Amino acid sequence: MQWDEKRYHSLDYECRHTYGEKLYKITLNGGMTCPNRDGTVGSGGCIFCSSKGSGDFAGLAEQSISIQLEKGKEELRSKRPIKAFIAYFQAFTNTYGPIEHLRKIYMEAAADPDVKVISIATRPDCLGREVLKLLEEVNQIKPVWVELGLQTIHEKSAKYIRRGYQLSVFDRAVDDLRKLGITVIVHVILFLPGEGKAEVLETLQYLNKSDIQGVKLQLLHVLKDTDLASEYEKSPFYIPTMEEYIELLEECIAKLRPDIVIHRLTGDGPRELLIAPLWSSRKRTVLNTLQHELKRKDVWQGQKYNCE
Ligand code: SF4
Repeated sequence: MQWDEKRYHSLDYECRHTYGEKLYKITLNGGMTCPNRDGTVGSGGCIFCSSKGSGDFAGLAEQSISIQLEKGKEELRSKRPIKAFIAYFQAFTNTYGPIEHLRKIYMEAAADPDVKVISIATRPDCLGREVLKLLEEVNQIKPVWVELGLQTIHEKSAKYIRRGYQLSVFDRAVDDLRKLGITVIVHVILFLPGEGKAEVLETLQYLNKSDIQGVKLQLLHVLKDTDLASEYEKSPFYIPTMEEYIELLEECIAKLRPDIVIHRLTGDGPRELLIAPLWSSRKRTVLNTLQHELKRKDVWQGQKYNCE
């Protein structure tokens, strides 16, 4: 079977084949903010975003990138011998800041011989000319991946989550990044309030037609101290069971273009902040059950691609 025993184009598979080994992610905090929080685009942020700017596992902003990388390596190496890493700029919007600051933090990561890839999470409306030029420059030193938080193609849901940009902005960003040869990874949230299977599959179908190289599929998490948590408290919206989530994942995998790398299939919310769904904190169980079901039903990535 293609893609080893996993039945989908996993990040581990991709790294082993492209870089010759598994790469481990170190989450970094470059001391950024976000235009959707500082008033430029909005002030409340995306409805689900935690106070740490969706970077709850990232390092400390007051530490330099080199120190955060060393600490991350130390922690990962305490469990197993690891040589190669992805420097992942995760917290807030990592292309939103003075260009000299961005240059400093990216170059610091690029200079680390153990860092094989630099992955930058950002918004598509924060990729101006200067930033793209810088990304192009860094991409000459180490491969750059840009992660775009699209979440959905549906305007109604985009409004509900207060994403703050139109789909056309995403399309333009993908186009600009691809012209520079930069790898694009797209974040999608499954089971947004008001969205079911049909809406999620429409988003995936749209991405199948876009020049993107990876996706992160993530379950909607209700985290403490977010506006989503207040909404949920006021009028609880539907939260799927693990079985429903897995069923939708199977469908997504079967319909996803085979070359698109799946970087994530569950959420990663910190346990102490998680309000719902509580079953999602058993990440191992979710992934093992999915694996079991893919095998049992003989499902693999791309099986239904083009079969719409
Ligand atoms: S764009 Fe990212 S950092 Fe900004 S509010 Fe939304 S999720 Fe949070």
